[in-house]
Amino acid sequence: MTDSRTNLLNLDRAGLDAFFTCLGEKPFRARQVLRWIHQRFVTDFSAMTDLNKSLRERLTESAVISLPEIIQQHCSADGTRKWLLRMHGNNCIETVFIPEEDRGTLCISSQVGCILDCSFCATGKQGFNRNLAVSEIIGQLWLANKTLGRDPKGERIITNVVMMGMGEPLANFNNVVTAMNLMLDDFSYGLSWRRVTLSTAGMVPAMDRLRAVCPVNLAVSLHAPTDKLRDELVPLNKKYPLQDLLSACRRYVAGDRRRAVTFEYVMLAGVNDSLPHARALLRLLRGLPAKVNLIPFNPFSGSVYRRSDAATIDRFREELLRGGIMTVTRKTRGDDIAAACGQLAGRVQDRTRRTMDRQRLVSVLPRSPLAS
Ligand code: SAH
Repeated sequence: MTDSRTNLLNLDRAGLDAFFTCLGEKPFRARQVLRWIHQRFVTDFSAMTDLNKSLRERLTESAVISLPEIIQQHCSADGTRKWLLRMHGNNCIETVFIPEEDRGTLCISSQVGCILDCSFCATGKQGFNRNLAVSEIIGQLWLANKTLGRDPKGERIITNVVMMGMGEPLANFNNVVTAMNLMLDDFSYGLSWRRVTLSTAGMVPAMDRLRAVCPVNLAVSLHAPTDKLRDELVPLNKKYPLQDLLSACRRYVAGDRRRAVTFEYVMLAGVNDSLPHARALLRLLRGLPAKVNLIPFNPFSGSVYRRSDAATIDRFREELLRGGIMTVTRKTRGDDIAAACGQLAGRVQDRTRRTMDRQRLVSVLPRSPLAS
């Protein structure tokens, strides 16, 4: 039998306000319940002691707080942790925690699998099943926060969130935005927009919508400085080519000097890692407030690429630095437990039979108003 009760983990403050209004209650109930759920990790309404007894009973009848289930946890020698979570329908996704000296970052998934099929990414090779619900996205932060707790000074261990796990977050726009509203809300996680980063392969129209409704930090998976090469690595480029993508990035940071776009660039030996590639990248990014993150390619079973060697990566980085672009090489973390960038696979029950060719991929994505 399916449960007809509302899962309150699917609602941000606006959603909870509406929910309590329907129950004939005042909106401040939303704030109380947000605190119970997201700050105190209480899932049993009868323990919510600042709600009166009759409201607690009505909530027990009409609502639930239902989370994904942790089915495996792996800890890397470098402190990285990876959780395998079971979602409804027996699909599994992965969430990764990366501790660093000055922060703790949680890498969250937004979809079961991914439809974009970037040629160097393990997630894409698993196929695509479905979007995650809000409860399944924010549930990753809830579970990780509850597990990791606070440091001896009483500060939360998780200080930053990156929407960089499995899936393309902007292809699950509404649910991802609702979950990020909860991340930013002082009554739930209270993170500043600078500490919440969404990474996209370049869904141009959704980037503009994001800027309008939930302007978190933006990262863009660039990986190539020319359309010819990017078409090959990130097939979505055929839909939203570089000039459209870069214009969207300019619009995203326009009017706010604190903002810059982080460009991710996976280093693939002999494919995109030469000095001419670095110079083309400099030309492409000229005039845009930008940072570049070089990601040494992380191999996975069946991958055809090789990681660029350290000297090549250094040379590429130095060329970008000389050109005036802040560039860092992302440290590979958690690769001993397959938790590094691009290695997340989970268990995807593929309903699309992702053997879809790229032409079809392009045709199922919404059309760009900018594409000719
Ligand atoms: N779909 C979004 C979110 C994924 S973020 C996006 O494309 O941005 C994960 C990041 O890891 C992306 O920059 C992705 O391109 C990169 N990545 C994927 N596979 C990788 C691999 N095998 N090695 C290193 N980085 C990889």
